[in-house]
Amino acid sequence: MDTYDIVVVGGGYSGMTAVDRIAAHRPSARVALVDSKDEFVERIRLHEAAAGHERKVFRYEPHLKAIGAGFMQGRVESIDTGASRLRIAGADGSRHDWAYRHLILALGSRTNKAVIPGIAEHAVCLDSVEDAAELARWARGGGRLLVIGGGLTSFESVAEFAETFPSLRVTLVSAATLAPSDAPGGYSAAAVDYLRRTFQRLNLQFLENTPVQKLQAGRAVLAGGEVIEFDRCIWAGGFSVSDLPQRAGIAVGKGGRIACTPTLQSVSHPQIIATGDIAEVNAEPSGVCRMSCAAGRPMGEAAAASALALLDGAKPAAFHFAFTFRCISLGRQDGLIQFVDVMDRPLAEVWTGARAARWKEYVCSRTVAGVGLTTAVEPPDTPPVALNSQQALKQLQKA
Ligand SMILES: Cc1cc2nc3c(=O)[nH]c(=O)nc-3n(C[C@H](O)[C@H](O)[C@H](O)COP(=O)(O)OP(=O)(O)OC[C@H]3O[C@@H](n4cnc5c(N)ncnc54)[C@H](O)[C@@H]3O)c2cc1C
Repeated sequence: MDTYDIVVVGGGYSGMTAVDRIAAHRPSARVALVDSKDEFVERIRLHEAAAGHERKVFRYEPHLKAIGAGFMQGRVESIDTGASRLRIAGADGSRHDWAYRHLILALGSRTNKAVIPGIAEHAVCLDSVEDAAELARWARGGGRLLVIGGGLTSFESVAEFAETFPSLRVTLVSAATLAPSDAPGGYSAAAVDYLRRTFQRLNLQFLENTPVQKLQAGRAVLAGGEVIEFDRCIWAGGFSVSDLPQRAGIAVGKGGRIACTPTLQSVSHPQIIATGDIAEVNAEPSGVCRMSCAAGRPMGEAAAASALALLDGAKPAAFHFAFTFRCISLGRQDGLIQFVDVMDRPLAEVWTGARAARWKEYVCSRTVAGVGLTTAVEPPDTPPVALNSQQALKQLQKA
């Protein structure tokens, strides 16, 4: 049986950050990553790939070998928390048991397909490069694309498809109304106005306050019984998480995320650390972090620090996080940066147009550079606020 000081399960933004930081700060630690794929996927660019834009491929194995970490492609099927062991189903059908001293769970999330009937059978979700490739092949032929959702993924997707394939008839359906809101995750009046004008410019149909009740073959049935017909439907109605932690007896919060202390330790199993979308953590001063790459990357750094502290028999430090902005791509040449306060509530200021698109592109490329897969790129402009949470916190402390 293979034995490691630290095993990280899940090589998304957060898990890869954790492995990278552990390898960099403690070359003597035996650390390994398990992921069901053989490559790191830039999940925040899946809508770009779905609209046919070229995608970079980052294989785990050579990169992890170079930094001194182990890798296995396989799905973790079960965790025996009492024995500190994992059961892994290898990609080739083999079975493996790994022992760990400390475990970092970075299982991420997937699109929630259990919201209304028919999603799994009749919609595509932006969860994998295969889903994206299938959509890209279809979109070249034209037709009616229906995107359902009222969040960032749906806004970015409709803009990307409408811009790249002007012959597509794109409809966006949202159960909510797009209106200014001061709540965390909300938009300022300027942002709402810009999104509406962008949807008009791209000639896409935007149906708000329109809950879809069920999906059937080629049809979305609305609450009032009306039907929207489609050739392809993208469901982008929020994320859900794996039940693996729950099956292992690890305490979870509402929605199944692992309930964590501010040090990212499981409240029920302190030797286990959770990070990224799978972790439910109340961080100062942001509050409970929403599922995002923005929070997942700094959380991965904190997870690495907590794991190394536990390895040394020391007390891990609390994770602090502050939101600074949300950035939305609206095609390749346009975008929207909504500046926010530390709790993700919108400020009046927004950036739009090419300047916002350049920033979004910079932020996306930084996420890959940040996990050591490429070298850092230069920022295109000077940001009006601090770029990351650590800098934002320093600003707050000075204020
Ligand atoms: C189209 C799109 C655009 C987005 N844009 C933004 C954005 O602009 N800004 C932002 O902040 N967020 C954005 N997000 C959300 C963001 O992608 C996620 O919040 C982020 O990827 C979470 O990172 P993570 O490391 O926690 O998990 P993930 O990136 O989901 O990675 C989890 C990893 O765990 C692996 N895994 C899961 N279960 C197992 C198992 N049992 N065994 C082995 N491996 C396993 C998976 O294969 C995967 O590699 C976007 C999402 C989508 C879909």
